[in-house]
Amino acid sequence: MSTVQQVTVLGATGSIGLSTLDVIARHPERYSVFALTGFSRLAELQVLCVQHRPRYAVVPDDASALELQNNLRAAGLATEVLVGEAGLCAVSADAAVDCVMAAIVGAAGLKPTLAAVQAGKKVLLANKEALVMSGALFMQAVKQSGAVLLPIDSEHNAIFQCLPGDYSRGLQTVGVRRVLLTASGGPFRETPLADLECVTPEQACAHPNWSMGRKISVDSASMMNKGLESIEACWLFDARPEQIEVVIHRQSVIHSLVDYIDGSVLAQLGNPDMRTPIAHALAWPERIDSGVSPLDLFAVGRLDFERPDEQRFPCLRLAREAAQAGGSAPAMLNAANEVAVEAFLQRRIRFVDIARMIESVLNAQPVQAVEALDAVFAADARARELAGQWLAGR
Ligand code: NAD
Ligand code: MG
Repeated sequence: MSTVQQVTVLGATGSIGLSTLDVIARHPERYSVFALTGFSRLAELQVLCVQHRPRYAVVPDDASALELQNNLRAAGLATEVLVGEAGLCAVSADAAVDCVMAAIVGAAGLKPTLAAVQAGKKVLLANKEALVMSGALFMQAVKQSGAVLLPIDSEHNAIFQCLPGDYSRGLQTVGVRRVLLTASGGPFRETPLADLECVTPEQACAHPNWSMGRKISVDSASMMNKGLESIEACWLFDARPEQIEVVIHRQSVIHSLVDYIDGSVLAQLGNPDMRTPIAHALAWPERIDSGVSPLDLFAVGRLDFERPDEQRFPCLRLAREAAQAGGSAPAMLNAANEVAVEAFLQRRIRFVDIARMIESVLNAQPVQAVEALDAVFAADARARELAGQWLAGR
């Protein structure tokens, strides 16, 4: 690896992408931007290109590629603009790349993230949906290629930091009893149940502690985010679903904990700012400045914990059931959730319909084995079709 690492940022215009670029810009002697990708907000992508001067930029279609290419040339940049999924996979797997930040949201991130994994890169995984969809195949690809997979999701990054370096020998072998996954409980933790019927996308996206993209904000409000994260944790740390316990901790200062058989419980704490896990994973096993201010425990004052309520958050139960069912179920859960969240954001369904729609999709289709990626995409497509029918049939 060269002294200056070449980094591809998939989903550069998003919340995680921008935080990644903020950390990278603090360390020009360590990191250089190889490629930036965006799907919308292409004017912002152009500004990022001027700032970070990547070798490649990737956009979704030919027309926007032409426009961006012309603008970048006019600005005196040699950046080459590539198009679509083929472009995303190319900048993930390029021989000159050391590290890929996988920060595209949803199933759209699976192929480019896998391309980085198969090319044996250091992969910083924010795109939890990719792992939820294809868990076994994804982890098998990591093993085969020797890719270094580092979790960006703050909880998983915290767990990674609290585990011993040899945890891949097995959680039980290294003395872990349980993994405690913390959750803020989102904006509706205390909303009267009857009022959940009429909450708006604006209320759902107003997260009390974290500033994030709209999809993950709605997932946090429904706690599907914690459901997806439980599945993510099982794959990342080779844990059984019953070894993961969700704890509501409303201050979001403890990012997760690991409970050992001798009674020790290790936690990772910090201000809720994604630049901490990003800097941790970028520099691992070293440490670098992230720009995050030091944690002021006196200002935090207290740390509270509660058991999650599955009546209030039925998505937690749906995710648990999908994890237990295995096979195609997590991919279907994820796809149905993506359609439901989008429909809620477009005000086509109510917040409480998200879980109803997902449950109806999961009940409509028997679980199938997924032995290859084609089966994952087939499950994803089938769930989207069933979700579309549910929407049309109401
Ligand atoms: P975001 O919506 O802010 O950004 C998403 C990025 O993906 C954008 O750059 C967008 O252009 C790109 N994108 C969207 N659809 C695409 C498509 N079809 N093809 C290619 N690119 C596409 O989302 P975010 O909050 O940055 O989250 C990104 C990922 O990180 C998600 O999987 C999320 O669950 C995960 N994550 C985010 C946070 C957070 O604090 N934001 C925390 C933990 C995990
Ligand atoms: Mg998280």
